[in-house]
Amino acid sequence: MAKGQKIQQVIKKYDLESLGDELVEQWTDPESSESLHDLEKYVNQRIVTSVINEQLKGLVPQAHPPDRIAHLLRADGSNAERFEDISRVEITEVKNWIEKNDIDADALADDLVSYNTVYKYLTNIRNVSASDGQKQARTPKERQEKVHTRLSNLQQRVEAVTKQGLESLVNADVIPDSYDIRLQFRIECTECDRRQDLLKYIGNRGCTACRANKRQD
Ligand SMILES: [Zn+2]
Repeated sequence: MAKGQKIQQVIKKYDLESLGDELVEQWTDPESSESLHDLEKYVNQRIVTSVINEQLKGLVPQAHPPDRIAHLLRADGSNAERFEDISRVEITEVKNWIEKNDIDADALADDLVSYNTVYKYLTNIRNVSASDGQKQARTPKERQEKVHTRLSNLQQRVEAVTKQGLESLVNADVIPDSYDIRLQFRIECTECDRRQDLLKYIGNRGCTACRANKRQD
């Protein structure tokens, strides 16, 4: 099997449809500083999160965040320098925890990818190179849309994490369950001092409340 194909397999197996496009986008975006190592971490974290969500019904284990689980499983049996500070005990502990939750730790570890696999996927299967993004200069409009999309995605992710976190606190009886989550990124205009929705501010090319602080279309 060609190395990059493993990414296609895990995308399918773990229902991570948008992941391939996200990798391409991150890697070719001249404004993104994501390295292949970062992308590797991202893929593995998504895999572990998917397994845990399925198995633990969305409860996020405080002691074992998905990125840490992925890191420890990758460290298992590796001599790479970046895993040097990880102890055998820690690996065993996390593997025991995984098995205790009816997840096959070895199978999961096998599905995790290396940065080289990510590289092969991007270059051989998606046919992109890191410099592709630099070739196309963005128009101001494209730039506006890009930033808007990125922040909007981030906001959705913050909402999802908040929802999960609060639900786990409700289930553990730490807080009552009478709440509505209202998250919004806000920005304050220094001309009129009014607070407003950040995404609307970007879409409007400036303050949505006063005329003084806005670029014209
Ligand atoms: Zn204003």
